[in-house]
Amino acid sequence: MITAITGPVCSGKTEYLIKRINKSFACSSDIEVYKPYQDTRNPGKLVSRNGEEFECEDLSLNMMESVWNSAIFIDEINLIPVEYTDKFIETIFLLCKQENLIYGAGLNLTSNMLVYPQMAAFMAIADDIKVLTASCKYCKGAAQYSEYIGKEEVKGVQDHKIGYDFRPVCFSCKFVAERKEYL
Ligand SMILES: [Zn+2]
Repeated sequence: MITAITGPVCSGKTEYLIKRINKSFACSSDIEVYKPYQDTRNPGKLVSRNGEEFECEDLSLNMMESVWNSAIFIDEINLIPVEYTDKFIETIFLLCKQENLIYGAGLNLTSNMLVYPQMAAFMAIADDIKVLTASCKYCKGAAQYSEYIGKEEVKGVQDHKIGYDFRPVCFSCKFVAERKEYL
C-alpha cells in the first residue's frame, strides 16, 4: 500500500505524516522514517510548521532495500535528485513486495509551476493520494501553489531553493497576478 501526500508549502504535509507515524507507533509497527539529506533545515528530524517533530534518517535507496514488514515514511520526496526518480520508483516497488506500508510526502509544484518528476512518479504508483491545500496569502482560499518570494533566481526543478522564502497562493490569484503583468 502506497499513500502519497502532496500540496504546497504550509499545507500540513509533514504534520500529516507525523500524525500517521504516531498512529503506527501506537500500533507498535516497525517504523522507518526518512528524508533526503538535501533538506538541510533540520538534520535528523522531521519538523512540521506547527512544531511537531520526529527523528528520521537520511534517505538511502540502497539501505531501504533491506526493510521488510514495516511502515516506511518519507518526507520531502521533491528533494530527491531528479536523476534518481527511476531508481526511487524501483525501490518503492521492491518495498511493496517486501510487505511494507509506504507513506510519502512532498511538494506538488515548483515556484515556477513545474511538476516535480519525483512526486509525479510517486503519485502515479500510489494507491491513495491525499491532496492538501494551504490558505492563500491573497484571498485566504485554498492554495495549491508555492510562490517564491526570495531574492535568488529560481530556474528548473533542481534549482528550486530550500527554505522558508515561499508562500501559498491559489491558482486564481496566481493567474490574476500574471494577467496584471501584461496590462
Ligand atoms: Zn487566492
